[in-house]
Amino acid sequence: MAESDCIFCEIAKGRSPAAVEYEDDLVVAFADINPVAPVHILVVTKTHLASISEMKEEEEELIGHMVWVARKIAENRKLEGYKLVFNVGEKGGQIVFHLHLHLLGGWDEKQEEIRI
Ligand code: 5GP
Ligand code: ZN
Repeated sequence: MAESDCIFCEIAKGRSPAAVEYEDDLVVAFADINPVAPVHILVVTKTHLASISEMKEEEEELIGHMVWVARKIAENRKLEGYKLVFNVGEKGGQIVFHLHLHLLGGWDEKQEEIRI
């Protein structure tokens, strides 16, 4: 897929609008357009990587950074509990094939079931 056809590349480059919550050299975090939790943020790599299933060993640090950023956002928002989810591949529920980590939280009660 050409990067110009990728919605998350467009958002990462500031060419498409999003409610951006955090940004650095490696990632951008913004609100999911179709939230399934009171807080639903996507941490997205600035470079176009398709999926965890295509991850290379040298990207370990980058993926760790995505988790670190998600944790920092959760802390800043004072989330008491949250979920971090990578959907991997079509059968894993992945729809957008540009690497992203879902941060889900903000519930009053313990969450047993959630579909993303
Ligand atoms: P996936 O199922 O691929 O893990 O998740 C893709 C997520 O991206 C979905 O939760 C969907 O709501 C979100 N999404 C898709 N298109 C856009 C968009 O244009 N803007 C934003 N903010 N989120 C999007
Ligand atoms: Zn992309």
